[in-house]
Amino acid sequence: SREIHLKSRPAGTPTQAHFELATVELPAPSAGEVLVKNLYMSVDPYMRGRMYDRPSYVPPFQVGEVLQGGAVGEVVSSNDPGFKPGDLVNSMFGWREAYVAPGSALQKLPAIEGVPVQAFLGILGMPGLTAWSGLTQIGEPKDGDTVFVSGGAGAVGSAVAQIAKIKGCTVVATAGTDEKVAWLRSAGIDHAINYKSAPSLLGAVRDAVPKGIDVYFDNVGGEHLEVALELARPFARLVECGMIANYNATEPVEGPRNIMYIVGKSLKMQGFIVTQFAGLQTQFQAEMGGWIQQGKIRWEETIFDGIAKAPDAFIGLFSGSNTGKMLVKLA
Ligand code: NDP
Repeated sequence: SREIHLKSRPAGTPTQAHFELATVELPAPSAGEVLVKNLYMSVDPYMRGRMYDRPSYVPPFQVGEVLQGGAVGEVVSSNDPGFKPGDLVNSMFGWREAYVAPGSALQKLPAIEGVPVQAFLGILGMPGLTAWSGLTQIGEPKDGDTVFVSGGAGAVGSAVAQIAKIKGCTVVATAGTDEKVAWLRSAGIDHAINYKSAPSLLGAVRDAVPKGIDVYFDNVGGEHLEVALELARPFARLVECGMIANYNATEPVEGPRNIMYIVGKSLKMQGFIVTQFAGLQTQFQAEMGGWIQQGKIRWEETIFDGIAKAPDAFIGLFSGSNTGKMLVKLA
């Protein structure tokens, strides 16, 4: 079975040279263990943080060892009475074609009609929960609010934008290509802006929503966050989900130069890590599953084929080569 190891820690944007494809021999599952063949693995921006050797909310990846991440797979053989061949499972044993692990480390996937298995790495999985919980629990959008979301065509952002529409909000979203912008419009998003080609990001967002914004869902940081502070209405909520514009920075980045608005406009700015909302998982899957079945939520996937392409898929997150969820198909 093949897997991807961290070869060295990147400084700046990761390249192929930081990864290594390795072949390993898998043991037969012993008591309580299960052999799983992965079908899809996820690559996510947060993995960049785990490539730094520093304390964080998840431990760093180790050089010379296999990487970790979300994956959905199929049980091949089982020595755990709770699992049988053919069961579909979610795990954190991504970046490898197959693995042997204790059954206790796996979650069986619920069957939701009309939903492909890889959706549990995207719209119905961690990114979906991130969007849903961050928006509803921290952003607290009210009917008629204006919601601004950066990284709008990504896995999290495209879910945020559509959930905000369901909640009766006007939505302005940014993305890095005209194709992504067109997709957001086709999904019913009121205003979609190509932040790379707009002469002024502030001008473009202000033109779209001249009365300002009530909620900002931040996936990007940097200039987007400054624009959000500039256009925030009194008592706006800034949901700090991610700041991908900074993840590969080699020097400390400048903070938002207009942070002082947080005082005068009585803003609320709150970060979060999705695991703090794990208790809402069942409620989330029920609500999101319902929206999917009612045709209220759409999603895109960008799929790279084969374990050897996993580093390319991951690196592509930082140049925007994905629309919607970035995945690697393994079997
Ligand atoms: P995406 O599917 O959104 O993929 C990343 C996207 O970010 C790219 O497609 C690209 O789109 C955009 N991007 C990359 N570099 C930049 C840049 N310098 N400036 C602006 N946009 C950029 O990833 P996810 O949906 O998985 O994650 C989105 C954000 O949410 C990330 O910040 C991530 O870290 C965060 N996150 C946080 C979680 C939490 O618990 N707090 C959990 C999950 C995700 P484009 O073409 O538009 O530039």
